[in-house]
Amino acid sequence: MPVTLESRTRRMQVFHLSHEVFCRGRCACSEVTVVVTAENPRTGERAPRRLQKKVPGSITVLARERKPGLPSAVLELAEVKAAIARGYLRIVEQTPDGAAQPRTESTPPALPANAAASAPNTPAAAGTPTAGPSAAAPASAADAKSAGKEP
Ligand SMILES: [Zn+2]
Repeated sequence: MPVTLESRTRRMQVFHLSHEVFCRGRCACSEVTVVVTAENPRTGERAPRRLQKKVPGSITVLARERKPGLPSAVLELAEVKAAIARGYLRIVEQTPDGAAQPRTESTPPALPANAAASAPNTPAAAGTPTAGPSAAAPASAADAKSAGKEP
């Protein structure tokens, strides 16, 4: 069930794909090889040793970026839930299994239902998409001003 998420804010957001939450059945973590120096307890000889290590993946959502084709498991992530509840992230569409739906980008009736299901505490947030960006804006605007103007 692919999900399309859209950033509602002008800052970059990174969501970590927690193994416990995201990898149900199949692991989506990437495997990295770490080289450590291990000492042989008997000979005292030091030699590099390779270890396989699993590292959870992450999704980077750039400012105002739209991310199509995400697995529905992303909606289970606490970081994603929080971002949706705060209005930083929006569920654009959630395609049912197997159905090749036409790309209807403006489907207002579906959005509040999806948003409400994910964030029951803030049903109004879905209707006021400006809440997130405008709330985040003053800080960055102030930063820009203070950086530009010398006292
Ligand atoms: Zn995993």
